[in-house]
Amino acid sequence: MATAELTDAERGYLETLYWLEEAALPMTAANVARAMQLSAPAVHEMIGRLEREGLISRSSDKLISFTGPGERQAEEIVGRHRLIERFLTDVLGIPWDEVHEEAERLEHAMSPVLEERMLAAIGDATTCPHGHPIRKGTRVPGVPLADVAEGARIRVLRFENEAEDLLHYLRQTGLEPGLEGTVMRSGVEEIVVQAPDRAATITRSVAETVSVTADPSPPPRVALPEQLVLGVQRYGR
Ligand SMILES: [Zn+2]
Repeated sequence: MATAELTDAERGYLETLYWLEEAALPMTAANVARAMQLSAPAVHEMIGRLEREGLISRSSDKLISFTGPGERQAEEIVGRHRLIERFLTDVLGIPWDEVHEEAERLEHAMSPVLEERMLAAIGDATTCPHGHPIRKGTRVPGVPLADVAEGARIRVLRFENEAEDLLHYLRQTGLEPGLEGTVMRSGVEEIVVQAPDRAATITRSVAETVSVTADPSPPPRVALPEQLVLGVQRYGR
């Protein structure tokens, strides 16, 4: 089955599963339901369909994994999405908190030729504007900003949760992938990063979803499952 033959819903599921895999979170129907904010029966039905189509398989303990073809399809969908996002920000100048839905719409209309042109147009960029690698195998490991000690130097790698409302919030704070600075304060409620040209203050719960490299660095940690829950109101700001 070619990517073009998948329904929008199927693509969405493959993207979510791929995202769980990248974030090293368990690929279960429950986590998919939480991430997509869908009901368990709806997810159950679609997972069954993807399994029958040979895109995923399930082990006896309910863990989902991609089949070879499923993994390739998911990679293709996710990579194309990130490429379009980068094209929209760098070439067309659209703010990075507004490109997700546009990319979703354009994804379906892409021919291989257009994709090649877009790749050429983005130059050396290797990630989407939110820091996620366009090609597999180039994901730089990071730690949650929430774990970093006061006084440490940091560089923002990526926003793990790309929910659009969360991206709007992050953009307002002044934090962005590539930004370098020092953690001035790491409080119970808020974290303050001082960069040369700005101070960015974000809530601790959102800082859980921001991956950074840090010096000194806290030990690596898998993201909290709560990170899966999309939507601003869940972040308590
Ligand atoms: Zn992105």
